[in-house]
Amino acid sequence: EKDGGNSSGNSRIMVFVRLRPMWKKEREAGSRSCVRIVNKRDVYLTEFANENDYLRLKRLRGRHFTFDASFPDTSAQKEVYSTTTAELVEAVLQGRNGSVFCNGATGAGKTYTMLGTVENPGVMVLAIKDLFNKIRQRSYDGNHVVHLSYLEVYNETVRDLLSPGRPLVLREDKQGIVAAGLTHYRAYSTDEVMALLQQGNLNRTTEPTRANETSSRSHAILQVAVEYKVKDASNNAVNRVGKLSLIDLAGSERALATDQRTLRSLEGANINKSLLALSSCINALVEGKKHIPYRNSKLTQLLKDSLGGACNTVMIANISPSNLSFGETQNTLHWADRAK
Ligand code: ADP
Ligand code: MG
Repeated sequence: EKDGGNSSGNSRIMVFVRLRPMWKKEREAGSRSCVRIVNKRDVYLTEFANENDYLRLKRLRGRHFTFDASFPDTSAQKEVYSTTTAELVEAVLQGRNGSVFCNGATGAGKTYTMLGTVENPGVMVLAIKDLFNKIRQRSYDGNHVVHLSYLEVYNETVRDLLSPGRPLVLREDKQGIVAAGLTHYRAYSTDEVMALLQQGNLNRTTEPTRANETSSRSHAILQVAVEYKVKDASNNAVNRVGKLSLIDLAGSERALATDQRTLRSLEGANINKSLLALSSCINALVEGKKHIPYRNSKLTQLLKDSLGGACNTVMIANISPSNLSFGETQNTLHWADRAK
């Protein structure tokens, strides 16, 4: 039997915050840090240079937040992985589903946290590495099969990042909602994965107005499915599937005014549509509502079987330390706070 999916029961969403280091460029431009992280939990927002009175800040609305854990700018990728995602990898090996989201403004560190670099691989790579290690340790009979799919939702259009081409159509079948024709890449080891994901990331839709920048309006979803056999009570082999979804969300900042206003507002509306739909689903799950509005966007349809119920959901809110990003940081923290 399969215990993933949206079976009843209140959902607990784990919410984390990660602060990225100040860029040299920001420091040179005279920007100051407006974020303090205390006790690996509390996040204080302050615009003042020498603000040490945390208790006073605590009483200022919207300036003090507390999360399951908050990562200061010195945190290593491995620490972020093991605190936020390692448990979900364990759950996937018990046939459950889970999802991890990185949220925040463009430049706040979402892609660094999710994908990372060759020297400092992020959650996606560390999760797959850990998964293969755990499968090897179990070593019953080598019957675990791991498949990866990597897709993007851009402007409410779904595309395969492992095999770019035509937009994919979402269909509902007995497995749930699937993207028809999506590549399911069978992975045998960790080594091949980093290059595969880096390439996939390059296939993300680029901003028309900022051609040299990686996309800030596309949601990238990596799904890692593990299929294996277990013996049931009467000693019959039954199939189990667990699926982990790792999502690098689009930038949460408001659409910037540009000359391409029409295109922008269209894209902005659609970005809001997916982010808003995700936000409504998460709020509905947290409040224990019966009806979860998955239908409202491509992103939430794709994640229908990986949110809520017996699934584990993790949110990592990425923030910049710079006072120049104060507004965006505050928005991100509010969003994350509401997901708790
Ligand atoms: P986003 O995906 O949210 O737009 P990125 O992950 O691309 O932001 O981060 C922007 C820049 O900051 C990148 O050059 C990235 O390498 C760097 N960066 C982000 N987070 C960290 C971190 N925790 N440590 C070191 N560099 C980081
Ligand atoms: Mg990014």
